Amino acid sequence: MLANYGYKDASGDYFITIDTDKCNGCGDCAAVCPVDLFAGMDEDPNDPLRVEPVAIVAGTKKNKVKYECNPCKPEANRPPLPCVAACATAAISHSW
Ligand code: SF4
Ligand code: SF4
Repeated sequence: MLANYGYKDASGDYFITIDTDKCNGCGDCAAVCPVDLFAGMDEDPNDPLRVEPVAIVAGTKKNKVKYECNPCKPEANRPPLPCVAACATAAISHSW
């Protein structure tokens, strides 16, 4: 399942997507994120049938992901995103 966290406004789409079929709940994304955007859950709050651990975007941070991610997303020469680079299963993608 693709779990989308974010929003759309007049300036664009700002979503972080976690593919819960790929996520194993390792927590490596949370460990490298400078703004503590990710949280590990023992069970998937979006899928009551799943009992394996999974990462989610924590709390109300999904409502401001564009701003939360500013430290990793300069205007030009954007480096590999720490969360994407850390995820060995390629479960994380960003829409912008
Ligand atoms: S690093 Fe990837 S596999 Fe590990 S918890 Fe984060 S999203 Fe899931
Ligand atoms: S881009 Fe940076 S701030 Fe945004 S979720 Fe990934 S590691 Fe965290």
